[in-house]
Amino acid sequence: MAKTFKNFIGGVWVAPTTGQYFDNRNPADTTDLIGRFPDSGAKDVAAAVRSATEGFAVWSRTPAPARGDILRRVGDLLVARKEALANAMTREMGKVLAEARGDVQEGIDTAYYAGAEGRRLFGRTVPSELRAKWAMSYRRPIGIAGLITPFNFPMAIPTWKMFPALVCGNSVIIKPSEDVPHTVHQLVEILLEAGLPPEVIQLVHGRGQTVGKPLVEHPSVSVISFTGSTATGSVIGETCGRLHKRLSLEMGGKNAMIVMDDADLDLALDGVLWGAFGTTGQRCTATSRLLVHRKVHDRFVTRLADAAADLKLGDGRDPKSQVGPLIHEASRSKVERYVGYGLEDGATLASGGKRSGGGRFAHGYFYRPTIFVGVKPNHRIARQEIFGPVLSVIRFNTYAEAVRINNDVAYGLSSSIYTRNVALAFKALRDLDNGITYVNAPTIGAEAHLPFGGVKQTGNGHREGGWEVYDFYSETKACYIDYSGTLQRAQIDNYDH
Ligand code: NAD
Repeated sequence: MAKTFKNFIGGVWVAPTTGQYFDNRNPADTTDLIGRFPDSGAKDVAAAVRSATEGFAVWSRTPAPARGDILRRVGDLLVARKEALANAMTREMGKVLAEARGDVQEGIDTAYYAGAEGRRLFGRTVPSELRAKWAMSYRRPIGIAGLITPFNFPMAIPTWKMFPALVCGNSVIIKPSEDVPHTVHQLVEILLEAGLPPEVIQLVHGRGQTVGKPLVEHPSVSVISFTGSTATGSVIGETCGRLHKRLSLEMGGKNAMIVMDDADLDLALDGVLWGAFGTTGQRCTATSRLLVHRKVHDRFVTRLADAAADLKLGDGRDPKSQVGPLIHEASRSKVERYVGYGLEDGATLASGGKRSGGGRFAHGYFYRPTIFVGVKPNHRIARQEIFGPVLSVIRFNTYAEAVRINNDVAYGLSSSIYTRNVALAFKALRDLDNGITYVNAPTIGAEAHLPFGGVKQTGNGHREGGWEVYDFYSETKACYIDYSGTLQRAQIDNYDH
């Protein structure tokens, strides 16, 4: 009998007011039911907001170093449970175990970074233009942060949002992806065990339309942070614009790896296999376009197609598996649809292009790693996000052409270039229009202490990770203290001659 899970609202685990639940199943084996999770509604969101308002009153007055201490303890608990969390994550999300461990590790890194940041939420002291007057700035908590997360990084992405929001003194309401609710359930248990006052965190499970939407629209939720598809982000952006909310959007990608004619091809081969097929292509930073210089194109593509055909599909908990399943049937059907578009538009399949069904794949959403060659920059598979194990190979003649192709898409998250030419590597850092560029490494592999995010339709100018995210979750107040005992007028008294 599968367990029935609850929301965490008002300091207690509670059933949803709707009385409805949804099933959470293993995407590698859908006969494996992980649990039933609340299919909550707007009333649950409203109760979460009431509790988070109380939580904010307490937490915003808790000294930032003390808030940081709790996050450090969260880091310690994540370390102690890393293996169990990774196993549970693979069971609900499908990524292979090594990657699930990496996902938890990113949460650990983010916890320790945030813990230390509790002692480093600096303001500035600056000279005043007037005599006997002090001028300084400091950071204040904002209020309730509403966090909406996708399925592909069940631990890392919630922690990227939650930990900085908490250290900055905000209370939090999180709505995790309905595809991976179990990981965040465990994360909230850990936060409570670490000593977070219960009203500071609320967990409301459910769907985008019935929980995400009311959360975004609630007038008392002043900050929204969303990671997910560009289509959903556009809707959320409109609402937040209308309601004057602070909003961070992290959305889709169409990331390219460029292989120059002087590249180390062995290195590039390892890189593209990992970048394109790691997490079954379900990373916002996944390599979905491979731009190869004509001089090395044919050689490289032959080796790549052979290597992709050798990749072992399977349950991510099996150590022999290199590629897990897709998250659900809708995702696999989307991949299939795009494989159809690739053929219709005139590209050629070099590897994959089909489901893996039958036998041990019978109850999972498996799809063979797929490579198209002869892709043109205007093909749909070269322009639109597929979010699956499909790589589009485009041949180019010059560096300038490769840059043009890289930049000529709606998205701008990650890019990469393989070359031995140092000058060209630095030119690429300047020319590639993305939030992240790698040299001699694939488009994936962000580190928790660097800013993460993209340009154009990938984001809205904010960054997660690193030092920048702490600005997003706090308000800066400028403070002036005049101890002259007379009225001093800025911009006037010093210049009134
Ligand atoms: P999705 O947009 O379908 O869902 C993301 C979250 O939004 C889920 O929790 C969902 O329930 C919620 N949601 C859906 N409709 C909503 C609405 N109207 N109002 C409020 N919330 C709503 O995305 P997904 O399929 O879970 O994730 C895949 C997408 O996420 C890809 O496009 C990928 O590129 C993107 N992504 C981006 C980054 C990044 O940092 N740029 C990282 C990971 C994933």
